[in-house]
Amino acid sequence: MFGGKGAGLAEMTRLGLPVPPGFTITTEVCNMYYSNGKRLPRKLMSEVKKNIVKMEKKTGKKFGSTQDPLLVSVRSGAAISMPGMMDTILNLGLNSQTVIGLAKKSSNPRFAWDSYRRFLQLFGKVVFGINDKKFDQVLDRAKHAQNVQMDSDLNEESLKNIVSEYKTICENHLGKPFPEDPYKQLELAIEAVFRSWMGERAVVYREKYKITRDIANGTAVNVVTMVFGNMGNDSATGVVFTRNPGDGTRKIFGEYLVNAQGEDVVAGIRTPQPIDNLAKELPKTYVRLMKTCEKLEKHYKEPQDIEFTVEQGKFYLLQTRSAKMNAIGMIKTSVDMVKEKLISKERAILRLQLEQLDQLLHKTIDGEAVKNYPSIVKGIAASPGAATGIVVFDVKKAVQMGEDGVKVILVREETKPEDVPAFFVSMGILTSRGGKTSHAAVVARGMGKPCIVGCSDMKIDYIAKKFQVDGKTFFEGEVITIDGSDGNVFLGEVPTIEPKITDDFRTILRWAEKTKRLGIRANADTPETAGLAREYGAKGIGLCRTERMFNARDRLGLFVDMIMARTVEERKAVLEKLMVLQKSDFKEILKVMEGYHVTIRLLDPPLHEFLPNIEELINKIHLFEKQNSQDEIAATKKFLDRARELAEINPMMGHRGVRVGITFPEIYEMQIRAICEAVADLTKNKVDAHAQIMIPQVGNVTELNHVKKIYEKIKSSTESKFGIKLKINFGTMLEVVRACLTADEIAKVTEFFSFGTNDLTQAVFSFSREDAEGKFLPEYLEKEILVENPFQSLDVNGVGSLMQIAIEKGKSVKPNLEIGICGEHGGDPNSIKFCHNAGLNYVSASSHRIPIAIIAAAQAALIKKSTKSKTKKPKKKR
Ligand code: PEP
Ligand code: MG
Repeated sequence: MFGGKGAGLAEMTRLGLPVPPGFTITTEVCNMYYSNGKRLPRKLMSEVKKNIVKMEKKTGKKFGSTQDPLLVSVRSGAAISMPGMMDTILNLGLNSQTVIGLAKKSSNPRFAWDSYRRFLQLFGKVVFGINDKKFDQVLDRAKHAQNVQMDSDLNEESLKNIVSEYKTICENHLGKPFPEDPYKQLELAIEAVFRSWMGERAVVYREKYKITRDIANGTAVNVVTMVFGNMGNDSATGVVFTRNPGDGTRKIFGEYLVNAQGEDVVAGIRTPQPIDNLAKELPKTYVRLMKTCEKLEKHYKEPQDIEFTVEQGKFYLLQTRSAKMNAIGMIKTSVDMVKEKLISKERAILRLQLEQLDQLLHKTIDGEAVKNYPSIVKGIAASPGAATGIVVFDVKKAVQMGEDGVKVILVREETKPEDVPAFFVSMGILTSRGGKTSHAAVVARGMGKPCIVGCSDMKIDYIAKKFQVDGKTFFEGEVITIDGSDGNVFLGEVPTIEPKITDDFRTILRWAEKTKRLGIRANADTPETAGLAREYGAKGIGLCRTERMFNARDRLGLFVDMIMARTVEERKAVLEKLMVLQKSDFKEILKVMEGYHVTIRLLDPPLHEFLPNIEELINKIHLFEKQNSQDEIAATKKFLDRARELAEINPMMGHRGVRVGITFPEIYEMQIRAICEAVADLTKNKVDAHAQIMIPQVGNVTELNHVKKIYEKIKSSTESKFGIKLKINFGTMLEVVRACLTADEIAKVTEFFSFGTNDLTQAVFSFSREDAEGKFLPEYLEKEILVENPFQSLDVNGVGSLMQIAIEKGKSVKPNLEIGICGEHGGDPNSIKFCHNAGLNYVSASSHRIPIAIIAAAQAALIKKSTKSKTKKPKKKR
């Protein structure tokens, strides 16, 4: 209700920290504003007045006074922080009379006029929607006229002129005078902040970060007494993190500007000072700041991101919130805070934002290869990771190209919140201005995108679409690589290396490993990905898709020969050759996963997927006809005939999976034999191999029984051949609705179930994944018909319910039946939470997601534990 900022201000006030007096209009009022046809509630302004009077009593100033005016800031603040996405107005309460009062009272007319011009610009932009550029042009002209570089060097005279020009801009826009009444100003400002909740920037941000209404519903408005960092050289404003958000080091990190107001630091207009300099420049403030940081961390048990202002030596806090950190910072602070006994291991695991951890599993520049790529320019490293792409200056163009799949690096002088859509689709961001807390830096870090800022040697010319460094010119469209970890920019594509898990990450994974109950397996089809999965902590393979092995260049030809075979004999002859290859693949993978289960799924896709497309074949034939190449025409026609024979109207529900296994039994026979012999060979060589055979697309127990007979026959013949007993489990995927509904029948003949939630989601929704994602799903999500893409995050109410039925039915027959999941959902934290609660034995995720899955499983266990203990009835005292 108070939003993050309002709650933080209230809490800091309660802790006795120096917060300027103020009040918060709750998010409920924002909702009333919208339900009321975008009108403020009738009684709101009289409530506001009552609270302003309280502020007047506390500060001794008066709102609208021409002697000692009270000025206020009007700032947004939702339940979830959305940095820079909504609007703020500062210095409200100034008009042509109160500015004179402020000048006299502060004995600093320059400061008063500076505050007034700032107010007019922000108010004009936010409340009236006037283009910022109009104001910037006036400011630049004034600097030029006075022959100064910095805003802070503008004298009173220049500022007065600016104010007068700003007023004219506003009045021309409005067609009436600028509102002079401070209460009218306040009313308009409150309304503007509410409006910004539904502004394009905010809506896009919420969509991207899945901030749904149940997470944050409307913005609060904070009306707070202004304190001034622009009252001279004993005044300052700054932003600090209590720990370094880039690497988590326990040392305050941030920037400040003397004689400036808040937005100057984030806007990157003047280059701010590193916070360490404050120790020399304003030593008392520095000590105060350090103590405050410690107090806030102790209270919130989370590193904080603080805004402060010093007004003529007096220290104020304007905001505190949990610091947004990159993944390295998150992990390190989690481990450090446990060591410092600030938090428990449980909390250390729970505070991790899992999607962010993906950053740690990202690329870095190859230290050796980079020696051949001289750096063309260096800026401030703002968000780690390496990215390659083509230079694009224009935001809209970057969005368009990025969405078309082109790898782009967005290159700007500085960025503003409206540029954020381009961040989502760019590989990385490079700016010529701004510091580590500039807009570009903060947003990129939050997204885990590599970013370099403050690259001041880079002169950008947007019109000519180029930038220059030391007389050398680089044009839009050229490929560059940026290293967000050290600030270097390279021409061309610099080789990168895959990430390695840090010691701190390993520590967290160890804690998570001990906390979780769910097993974690990998979806892997090659020895390399299996090896990576094992290194990342996977204990087994939950899905090895055998068809992917046929896609390798040396096998595809053979596989196509097998499909083209006209007789069983012909087909068997090709399968003999394929068997040798499959067996050696299985041996490699089983060896890498020695000691753990490797679930091998028999062929699933329809056979025509391996043949060229019919249209392609027709075109080829036309071409050969023109060339009169009779042999090629004949050969291609054979392919065309076969492709037409195998073609289906709806392949997703067609001749695939077990249906192929039953109608072309020699294929499954070959695969089962390859698995049995691979295990037999390895066992003879004392390798602890545990293969499991899994049948796809089963809908009926009779299908399974049919294949099971083949499996039993081949297993027993292999046992005789090798003279050993084989323990190879036989199980099925549950990815057909009927299989889930008859899971009790199926459980009787299987040793395990594995939910194929990709197909199951298609079946439950009656959506074909490709068609849905390519056509209507984006609009469904935009219109909130669906809150999540069900192919990414499990649809708990629908697909989940069906799974529950299957689990119950399966376990009613075999209480110890092994049940897992191997659809894409196996790597999604929310789906993992469901799997934990549903009592599954394991989830299987792609190799790169294994560490995330391990921590997600631990979080699921902790959340379940805490809800259980909350719902436990207290014991009666005797
Ligand atoms: C599934 O359907 O969830 C599954 C894992 O199989 P595939 O994605 O290969 O169809
Ligand atoms: Mg499937």
